[in-house]
Amino acid sequence: MAADKDKDIIDGDFREVEDSAEQNQEESGSENVNQNPGDADHPDHEHYCMMCHRPESKTGKQIEIPGGMYICTDCMQKGFEAMQNTNMNEMISRLPPNIGMIDLSGLGFGMPAQDHKKKEKHEKQAKKLTLKDVPKPHVIKEKLDEYVIGQEHAKKVMSVAVYNHYKRILQTPEQMQDGTEIEKSNMLMIGPTGSGKTYLVQTLAKLLDVPLAITDATSLTEAGYIGDDIESVVSKLLAAADNDVERAQHGIIFIDEIDKIAKKKNTSQRDVSGEAVQQGLLKLLEGSEVEVPVGATSKNAMAPLETVDTRNILFICGGAFPDLENVIRERLNRTSSMGFQAELKDRYDEDPDILQKVTNEDLRAFGMIPEFIGRLPIVFSLESLTEDMLVKILKEPRNAILKQYQKLLALDEVKLVFDDGALHAIAKKALEKDTGARALRAIIEDFMLDIMYEIPRDDNIGEVIVTKEYVEHTGGPKIILRGQEVPGTEIQS
Ligand code: ADP
Repeated sequence: MAADKDKDIIDGDFREVEDSAEQNQEESGSENVNQNPGDADHPDHEHYCMMCHRPESKTGKQIEIPGGMYICTDCMQKGFEAMQNTNMNEMISRLPPNIGMIDLSGLGFGMPAQDHKKKEKHEKQAKKLTLKDVPKPHVIKEKLDEYVIGQEHAKKVMSVAVYNHYKRILQTPEQMQDGTEIEKSNMLMIGPTGSGKTYLVQTLAKLLDVPLAITDATSLTEAGYIGDDIESVVSKLLAAADNDVERAQHGIIFIDEIDKIAKKKNTSQRDVSGEAVQQGLLKLLEGSEVEVPVGATSKNAMAPLETVDTRNILFICGGAFPDLENVIRERLNRTSSMGFQAELKDRYDEDPDILQKVTNEDLRAFGMIPEFIGRLPIVFSLESLTEDMLVKILKEPRNAILKQYQKLLALDEVKLVFDDGALHAIAKKALEKDTGARALRAIIEDFMLDIMYEIPRDDNIGEVIVTKEYVEHTGGPKIILRGQEVPGTEIQS
């Protein structure tokens, strides 16, 4: 009886998988395409279970698994029961050589945790995105201002592009009928390491409450080579959307380090991680239907597949593009050395905003293929962070690092103050490291460790002032005892 009940659950859950498989077949227009390896031997096009080899007429509906194979629900059930009684390694060793482990979480097997997840999922599904949910560009920019310092141009461009993107995808069928097709607003962000590219995208996705997948272009290779398939970026997004295809299709994919897939120069080998990846990304950027396994974290041969349409996914690519400045400068100097503008030659050599003058021609010269650039119509640059910007990053954003430390000490009822000299000393140290704002946290952690270790020792301490000397390791912080107005003793780092 209990076994029957279990089987019902299994049937119920798998029906979804089968239905979608059938639907996929219908959509692809293939009539009766049966990929079961046993088909040639069984012209009646019945599926055969890969475990017990019984036909579908005997076992009831079978589940399709990647690789064109099928498994009956009895064998699937036996597998699960064995898994409960056996350790995982033994279980894996019992499976046929080309089959990996089953991803239970992806199948949603009626476990309490899954029920909870499903409920959340349905709640999210019910809240369908409408244009009313998408804030206007000036509101998006204001929100970004709360978190991201500087980068005014980038924030403005992104706010408009994102707003237009959601306008485009949330059009009603009537609005689409006039024949004017709005182009996709995929973006290319150029900016030095640690200038806030990833942070901008993260903040944007949070603000819009859409799923976000962040991927490194260097991990991608042409299918069949060591590395991640290009389509893995879509499965990451699906995972970020809790496997809700509808939500994933309105999400954002951020591909970082895009400059690293520039065409390799002077190479006689096949460029599997450069030009080939750019070629592979073309279809995704433009919009295509891709089949991706559910449950991106595990590469299971048996994970069910979902079809995700990338037409409405917003792609944002980012990269530092080292030396692009020289390419731009060369082009500008070349044009200005011709004709009557000749006297202006070299005027770009000291231009700090040279990256803002980037054109498609420069990106092509850098090694990006024209078709790829063509699919990223919005190109903009981020500024390098200056000392003043770094100081602001330390103290102004909503979740500024200093605010976090101040909160930590406030929980011990100790006031933490950084004097101006200390902030500039931290910023100067960070600039030396050449990793943008990323260096800030490491520098602060270095000296905050002593403060956070020593202060809770003494309940009399009411305030700590971090000074320039303390940051530069030439002195200690100022300590003010409770009830004392004037600075008291100092602790040495
Ligand atoms: P990258 O440009 O290399 O993607 P990130 O966005 O990862 O840089 O930046 C690293 C960290 O530095 C972020 O998590 C954020 O805390 C901080 N940061 C960088 N730029 C800014 C900025 N303009 N405003 C506020 N914080 C920033």
